[in-house]
Amino acid sequence: MRKKSKGSIFIVSAPSGAGKTTLCKEIIDTVDRLKQSVSFTTRKPRKGEINGVDYSFISKEKFKKMITSGDFVEWAEVHGNLYGTSRRRLENILKSGSDVILDIDTQGARQIRKSCRGGVFVFILPPSMKVLRKRLENRGSNSKDDTERRLKRAVYEIRDYDKYDYVIVNNILKNSIRKLESIIIAERLRNKKIDTDLIRKILN
Ligand code: 5GP
Repeated sequence: MRKKSKGSIFIVSAPSGAGKTTLCKEIIDTVDRLKQSVSFTTRKPRKGEINGVDYSFISKEKFKKMITSGDFVEWAEVHGNLYGTSRRRLENILKSGSDVILDIDTQGARQIRKSCRGGVFVFILPPSMKVLRKRLENRGSNSKDDTERRLKRAVYEIRDYDKYDYVIVNNILKNSIRKLESIIIAERLRNKKIDTDLIRKILN
């Protein structure tokens, strides 16, 4: 009989403002054995963000050192800041027996697609560009220029949607959570993910 399989990696990408961060936070509370890997970033913390919880906020110099040391499974420059997923944090979550969710941009997703087989890729779409603009404007923390930059980038990122295994249009948050939850549950029920100890117990 084959060995127990490792946890799954769920890669969630979306243009800024599509609601991905809220969705990822909600899903962590809803689904057991699912953790989010806290990314490193050179971006300054926004109001209310906590170091080590929302991100690990570090300097550009430290980030570059970490790149050289091979500390990231993927990293990318997004909206002028650097973001990266720590190899050690990712491995620790998987070793602890949990699945991991990565809230990363499309460039990072491309790197994960190349380097790690078996990732499950989910793309979150806004219901329309009009809604996306409204959501970005309502954030208040973005300047007008920043909003325009994010909208332009959204068009570029949405082009990548067909490289993802699943697509969720995030119109009503409650429904989107259910959809993401269904994807995670279905993935856990894949034959190759079934704990072989369970089969042994059933046969005894
Ligand atoms: P924000 O600054 O609004 O929190 O995030 C901006 C973008 O960076 C989002 O699309 C988010 O998914 C992405 N991002 C956050 N962490 C990472 C990471 O570790 N790697 C990559 N490639 N993108 C990330």
